[in-house]
Amino acid sequence: MAESILENLAVILKRIENSCRQSNRNPNEVRLLLATKTVSADYIKIAIEAGQTLIAENKVQEAKEKYESLRLIPHESHFIGHLQTNKIKDLLKCDISCIQTLDRLDLAQKLHNRLLYENKTMEVLIQVNTSNEDSKFGTYPDQAIELIRQVAELETLKIKGLMTIGLFTAETEEVRKCFKLLKKIQQETISLNIPNVEMKELSMGMSGDLETAIEEGSTIVRVGTAIFGQRIYPDSYYWNENKD
Ligand SMILES: *Cc1c(COP(=O)(O)O)cnc(C)c1O
Repeated sequence: MAESILENLAVILKRIENSCRQSNRNPNEVRLLLATKTVSADYIKIAIEAGQTLIAENKVQEAKEKYESLRLIPHESHFIGHLQTNKIKDLLKCDISCIQTLDRLDLAQKLHNRLLYENKTMEVLIQVNTSNEDSKFGTYPDQAIELIRQVAELETLKIKGLMTIGLFTAETEEVRKCFKLLKKIQQETISLNIPNVEMKELSMGMSGDLETAIEEGSTIVRVGTAIFGQRIYPDSYYWNENKD
């Protein structure tokens, strides 16, 4: 297992480099994020010790469970799951530097209140449901800018960009539409010059579609399966929870 993680990592880094080269981008512009749901802390350690610096969990419970084992190895943690408001307090104990899945005002307000109380700030990405699938979280594209304006008023939250999960399909051009839409919302937001809003990050692309995402401007690709192998739980376990 340890060996295959290292081999898979090398393959992914090569894929990122190749697609950057093909789209005339500097590989330094694209950060690899390891999606570590269901992966044990020991295996995550292998990847971090091999030079990876950014990991992310989908569930607060899992983040908590692995936090102690990984705490002393330098790395950065984001959160990429659907965040229920009653888990905010626990998540803030896990030293998360960015919540990539901010998708509704109610969550933003509760997060803001807790951050105020703890005298902290938090980087966030606004998650957009670019594929219009009911099973996915994220604000709808036509409501994204309104949400960004509202979140920008909450001074503990630092908007750094947008995140999306592309459509699940083997048809590259359909997935590409999702990524193009995220880029378009980014450009529109930039042109509005909203105070307290940065739009430099586009978190898009996973094991199966990272090349397309990089071609469309991704700055963070989130990769799980292609590095750690197939998960025993279906993704619906992580993505189709009841919305709160
Ligand atoms: C699991 C997950 C990924 C990684 O998906 P793979 O197909 O395993 O690479 C990326 N983003 C999110 C939000 C995830 O939950």
